[in-house]
Amino acid sequence: MFAREERVVVRFIEFMPLEEDRVWTPEIVVGLDEIVRRMSEYLPLQEITHEHSETARRYRFSDGVGEIGIIAPVSHPFCGHCSRIRITSDGKLRTCLFSVWDHDLHELMRRGADDEKLTQFILKIVEKKEERHHIGEPGFVPASRTMVHIGG
Ligand code: SF4
Repeated sequence: MFAREERVVVRFIEFMPLEEDRVWTPEIVVGLDEIVRRMSEYLPLQEITHEHSETARRYRFSDGVGEIGIIAPVSHPFCGHCSRIRITSDGKLRTCLFSVWDHDLHELMRRGADDEKLTQFILKIVEKKEERHHIGEPGFVPASRTMVHIGG
């Protein structure tokens, strides 16, 4: 209703194990399929074609009014198309939300590294970017930082 009345795109995101109090279990995730099914009981949804690099799958209500987006990293991972790296507010590079360590760019800069050195450092890190997350798999190791310490 909100998306339709306010003419805004409302986005949902599946709950990922990146929260501060570590309460995540697969059972409490409301996945994309369930969101679509429950929304469609109100009015059918039609998927809008999206680019592979887009994180959200987009849907329009069948009467053309209102759009929603669903980010589904747990039930429909999109890691294969991910080229994102992040820099934290304390100057660490992270190659994945679920990285178990970060790379200290700030320390390198503090020691006076020039652009060439910084470029080589970043390239080396990017080459080792994780292929995917392992949410829900046996032996899953939680990320070294929770979402509030990554920043999104
Ligand atoms: S590779 Fe990491 S950062 Fe990229 S989509 Fe997968 S979980 Fe997210």
